[in-house]
Amino acid sequence: MLINGEWRAGKEYFDVKNPYDGSFLDRVPLSSKKDVEDAILSAKNAFSAMAEMPAHRRSTILSNTSKIIESTKREISELITKESGKAIKYSLAEVERSIQTFQFAAEESKQIHGETIPMDASPNSEKRFAFYQPFPIGIIGAITPFNFPLNLVAHKVAPAIASGNSVILKPASYTPLTSIKLGEIMMEAGLPNGALNIVFGSGSTVGDWLVESQDLAMISFTGSPSVGRRIKERAGMKRVALELGSNSAAIIEPDADINLATPRCIMGAFSNAGQVCISLQRIYVHEKIFDEFKEKFIKAVRKMKVGNPMKPDTEYGPMIEEKEAVRAEGWIKEAVHKGAKILCGGERKGNIITPTVMTDVKRDMKVVCNEVFAPLVTLIKYKDFEDAIDMVNDSIYGIQAGIFTKDIDKAFRGFKKLHVGGVIINDVPTFRVDHMPYGGVKESGTGREGIKFAIKEMTELKLIVFNL
Ligand code: NAP
Repeated sequence: MLINGEWRAGKEYFDVKNPYDGSFLDRVPLSSKKDVEDAILSAKNAFSAMAEMPAHRRSTILSNTSKIIESTKREISELITKESGKAIKYSLAEVERSIQTFQFAAEESKQIHGETIPMDASPNSEKRFAFYQPFPIGIIGAITPFNFPLNLVAHKVAPAIASGNSVILKPASYTPLTSIKLGEIMMEAGLPNGALNIVFGSGSTVGDWLVESQDLAMISFTGSPSVGRRIKERAGMKRVALELGSNSAAIIEPDADINLATPRCIMGAFSNAGQVCISLQRIYVHEKIFDEFKEKFIKAVRKMKVGNPMKPDTEYGPMIEEKEAVRAEGWIKEAVHKGAKILCGGERKGNIITPTVMTDVKRDMKVVCNEVFAPLVTLIKYKDFEDAIDMVNDSIYGIQAGIFTKDIDKAFRGFKKLHVGGVIINDVPTFRVDHMPYGGVKESGTGREGIKFAIKEMTELKLIVFNL
């Protein structure tokens, strides 16, 4: 554990295993209640130092972090692949993105400012002068999932430090090793003791202690909708930002470039074995091009390499745990039982599921209406663009949606009508870069990440009024 700048052992430990071959990777301490209390005390003390730290110093620490990650890119990528099972080419891409995330934070930390208020607009304050400024809010509790063990941690730690807060991080129990590496890097980058503390243990104990603590100003959570709901219910008055799941969709219009849509849909549906919050799960294809798209798509899916995630040409490897693969297999069987058709894949070997494409699905099947979080995508035919929009919106979730079209009117119509956090034209909902506002509506969450936008959530405005 990282507490007040020191690495602390534990009384008890848990093993971290490689999901691909089950091999033992390392053991990590289980934080006790006292460890968590110490982490809170350490973050409290560090907050005063962080809140006073000039922007250029915060920026230098974040920029140093970015540079050190860059210099250890290969090592961190391999660590991500070992503990999460992510294919190495996508682990490398995640590390590349984290380099940018910290660099964006270094830049944003110098841009945090308020504005003056035209006080003479009111007859009651003609002779007053006022401005406001954002201030850091305190200790941020960061609770993160397994599927992006570096970049989703970066999306909480980087804006928190950029805006002068301190952090207690509890990473997913499947993937704590990347967080330890990041802790080492940030200490080397010059972060003061206590500004980042890292504790380990199950969400329902260690996570709960953080969520229920009166000393934390905010919980920034990324993970499943059910845990997000529970956190919101228990967090009391503190701020809560929730980045949750979805059953993301794309619409493919008859004028779309199918040669562009096909590879993008493959990446969107299958990268990281579909274990991405904006994984493409529903593809609505116009009836005029349905058969052509289906043929091209299936042909390309059949060529995908699945298996050992350390091999450079592997598209995806195992799911995080066999029980998750068994769950997804159950959903496939249930859909088939209710009339759906498997166009390819649908087989499971341990925690690996072959790339699965289904059609003839119905809106109430789990593979359509729930977050499948597995390498599975559904193809659904439509006639009318407005109907396709309604079908995309027919979901309890909404993070992003994609539309493949060359028609600018349809693009704007989609932007206006789709109830999601972001509309991506001529690409899949899975597209993300790290400075754009990112987050969900409905059961997909509250709040926005993307450095500038997370900083907004992690600061509070304070006003000063001069009576002149
Ligand atoms: P998860 O099971 O909800 O776990 C996420 C984190 O929450 C882990 O650190 C977990 O700890 C912790 N946790 C579990 N129960 C808790 C509790 N009662 N109180 C506090 N913390 C608790 O999610 P996951 O399986 O790791 O990740 C998959 C989910 O994350 C999917 O639904 C996916 O869509 C979503 N996700 C969303 C985004 C986004 O940006 N919107 C990005 C990535 C993933 P343990 O590991 O110890 O259980």
